Amino acid sequence: MKSLSPTPEGLDQAAALLRAGELVAVPTETVYGLAADATQPDAVAAIFRAKNRPADHPLIVHLPGLEQLNEWAARVPDCAWPVIERFWPGPLTLVVPASPKVPAIVNAGQNTVALRWSSHPLLQALLDRLQRPVAAPSANPFCRISPTTADHVRAHMEGRIAAVVDGGPCAVGIESTILDLSGARPAILRPGAITAAMLAPYLDLAEAAAPDAPRVPGNLASHYAPRQPCYRLEAAEAAAAAAAAESAHEAGWQHAAVLAIEPPAARCGWFKRMPPTPEGYAQTLYSALHEADVSGCLTVWIVLPPDEVAWRAVRDRLQRAAQPLDGHVLNFV
Ligand code: AMP
Ligand code: MG
Repeated sequence: MKSLSPTPEGLDQAAALLRAGELVAVPTETVYGLAADATQPDAVAAIFRAKNRPADHPLIVHLPGLEQLNEWAARVPDCAWPVIERFWPGPLTLVVPASPKVPAIVNAGQNTVALRWSSHPLLQALLDRLQRPVAAPSANPFCRISPTTADHVRAHMEGRIAAVVDGGPCAVGIESTILDLSGARPAILRPGAITAAMLAPYLDLAEAAAPDAPRVPGNLASHYAPRQPCYRLEAAEAAAAAAAAESAHEAGWQHAAVLAIEPPAARCGWFKRMPPTPEGYAQTLYSALHEADVSGCLTVWIVLPPDEVAWRAVRDRLQRAAQPLDGHVLNFV
């Protein structure tokens, strides 16, 4: 794949490739996206092949601005406007009734479409050139770790896509919040940087995820996962688990990678100290998982951050990346 510089020339080339129906990975404020011209069904079909993504998982459409909102949404519910005004452009995706213009391959033939207007200046400049939206899921193979740098994209998508625009590390680090505005009451389908507490003053949010939440692939139980066996545990269990793992199989423990806010009680093979705030943690989460993936360790252990609402989006991703530790201590090599 070509590496395109974040310059006017690089963006011209990216726009030309997209117009020609090619796939280009682009930075957003959340994670790198794998973009295709949303008006070309064949180009969008190539996204599913490049990612090995099942065709029934709909894609997010990234708008060049508010002007095209009414072309891609059949109807924008009144309750959307205060949210749009406050949080767009930004890491928030809105699910609304789809206009007939949305190619069926983009939204898996559903009657709704997921729309986003990214705040990333490079993606905005690219969409300005293109003058139409791109469909873009995360630029990683289906169910693997999402990319937050151009290097992550190159490592996992080499030979499968035309180019990547290198915009440096993503600021948010985890996928957008998905807010469903197509049902009786607004509901969060996927937690993200824009939290329920931030949205609550602007609309009447339903408590739990809508019953059709499985349409969101990020809701599969296993997602965002490293290649090695990956276990999760609560901080309160960490000291006992590390001691038990070390005494059960010392050599195995010495090949364990640990991600935690505090260092583990027993010395392990590789340790990544994670930031103590939800924003900081989210920003480095996928990079840390990518590092653990290539660290040479045989297992990955994640000590979860506190079970508090502020950590909801981070814990959601970690719970999908890792299985519960229970019962695995003695056979972790
Ligand atoms: P990703 O593949 O990580 O970029 O995720 C794109 C997200 O948008 C997925 O979770 C999709 O299921 C979700 N999405 C796209 N369209 C819709 C829709 N019409 N209804 C619900 N979720 C959607
Ligand atoms: Mg994804």
